[in-house]
Order: sequence, then C-alpha cells, then structure tokens
Amino acid sequence: AKSEGRNGSAYYSDDLTQSARERLRLESRLRTAILEQQLVLYYQPQVDIASGQIIGAEALIRWLDPEDGLISPERFIPIAESSGLIHEIGVWVIEQSCRQGELWHQQGLHGLSIAINVSPLQFQRCALIQQITDTLLSTGFPADLLELELTESALMTQQADVLTMLRQLKQLGVRLAIDDFGTGYSSLAYLKLFPLDVLKIDKSFIDQLPKHQQDAEICRAIVSLAHTLGFKVLAEGVEYQGQRDFLTAIGCDCFQGYLFAQPLTADDFFQLALQHKA
Ligand code: C2E
Ligand code: CA
Ligand code: CA
Ligand code: CA
Repeated sequence: AKSEGRNGSAYYSDDLTQSARERLRLESRLRTAILEQQLVLYYQPQVDIASGQIIGAEALIRWLDPEDGLISPERFIPIAESSGLIHEIGVWVIEQSCRQGELWHQQGLHGLSIAINVSPLQFQRCALIQQITDTLLSTGFPADLLELELTESALMTQQADVLTMLRQLKQLGVRLAIDDFGTGYSSLAYLKLFPLDVLKIDKSFIDQLPKHQQDAEICRAIVSLAHTLGFKVLAEGVEYQGQRDFLTAIGCDCFQGYLFAQPLTADDFFQLALQHKA
C-alpha cells in the first residue's frame, strides 16, 4: 500500500537508508564473527576425470552464525571486500587451509593439493607474498600443493604489476589457477604472458553440455588452447554424468561438482578422500 502523506522520493530514500543500515549491521556482525571464530572452511573435492581419484580440494568459506546458521560467501564476501575485512579473512583462509592440508598429509592423504580463492583486493597488496611465505614456513605445507585461484578481473588490472606479482608467487613455488575462466573481460594475450598452471572453466559453459553445440565447441577450444599453452584444465560445476563423459572425451583433466560431491566439512572430506585417494 502507498504510504499516505509522503512523496515518492522520501519513500525511496527511506528504502536506501534501510539497505545501508542492513549492510552496516552485517559488517559489524562479520567483525564479531571473525573474532569469535565463526568462519569455517568447507572443502570440495577436485577429481581426476579419467581415474576418479581425488587430487585436491577447493577451500570454500562459510559463516556459521549462531542464530542464522550457515551464511553463504556470496552474501558476505562483497561486504568483506567493501569494508576491508577481506584482508583479515584472507590471511585466515591461507593459514587454515595450509594447516588443514598439512594435517591431512600427516594422516595419510599424500600429495593432496589445496586451492584457495584470492580476492582481487588481496592480490593488489604485496603483503600477500609475505603472508603466504610465512604460512608455508610455519605450517610446513609444501608450496607446490598450494594453489591460488585468481579471477580474470584481478589479472586484468595494471598489467606490469600483475606480472611481477605472479612471478614472485611462482618463485615461492605455489600453483596459480584462473577461476571462472571465460566470464570476465579477458584478453587471450595474457594467457601466454602469465605463468599460470590451471584454467578453471566456468560452470556457465558446463551447464548445458553436451547438448548445447556452442558451449560444447567453446569447451573443446578452451581445453585445446590450455593444453597448447601447457595448462591443466578443470571443469567447474559438473552435475551430470553426461557432462563428465563429454569432458572426458574432449581431454579435460579434472572436474569439481555435485556429481562427485558438494563442499564438505573437513571431517567428511577426509572420510571421502580416504576412499578415493591415488
Ligand atoms: P567459486 O570460487 O566460483 O566457487 C564455486 C562455487 O560453486 C561454490 O559456491 C561451490 O559450492 C559451487 N558449486 C560447486 N559445484 C557445484 C555444482 O555442481 N553445482 C552448483 N550449482 N554449484 C556448485 P560457494 O561455496 O557458495 O562460493 C561462492 C563464491 O564465493 C566462490 O565462487 C568464490 O568466488 C567466493 N568464495 C568462497 N570462498 C572464498 C574465500 O575463502 N575467499 C574469497 N575471497 N572468496 C571466496
Ligand atoms: Ca574458486
Ligand atoms: Ca569458480
Ligand atoms: Ca563463480
């Protein structure tokens, strides 16, 4: 119903204040969540497409709120980024993943890689190099099992700096993956310029496989291009056997998706990985 005695603009500005207030409230709750250790990492298996063995895990953050339950990163990562809290969260993700990876190694999951999502904002700061160096040292997790997932938008800003940063990361021995490949504004030229290891085909190209002819051809072309340049290819969001079969046929190396498993708690991941280890 229309509010009597008010004009339209007052109504809208009330509305804006409402959403700004909601954001502020979430930001302050997120600050508390970090202090009270309400953030948790879930782990989604990365699977060798031909053998079905688990070769790695992608760490995906969740916020376990005592009242609201699990809150999706899609809701709070944007707020973490606009408030600067992403830097604290990012450090925690690096530490927690390396600690978990090293623990799993000691429990018999040898050679399992851990992929973490790095926000473009983290990537812009040179502190990232030091944070990763320190964490690898303090946890003992091998650098070549840590994979950083970067988005195209992180890579497409100020190219000279980006290349320096990527080279420094490669010198540490970590692996570099490009996330959501094909969805951002990217130039194919940077693929040969940047020292990348893995290309993750975005779920939107996988959804309608194998029926959708254009998507099928795009995937085929991405796999071929990536292999020519020496990158591994991982397909994201694989939900159906038909998709996996098609991806196997075109030579895709590995996949992630509900077909194999959703993101799992560390304990559930460990149990599953024991059954599917190399
Ligand atoms: P992303 O990096 O592209 O992660 C893949 C998302 O797809 C995850 O959502 C995952 O749960 C979901 N997914 C995986 N397989 C399937 C499938 O077969 N079907 C469907 N429908 N979905 C699938 P999630 O965990 O909600 O994460 C959303 C986004 O939040 C991530 O997208 C990433 O951009 C961001 N994110 C998650 N964890 C972190 C983190 O630690 N740091 C940062 N900076 N961002 C993170
Ligand atoms: Ca990712
Ligand atoms: Ca992705
Ligand atoms: Ca995504």
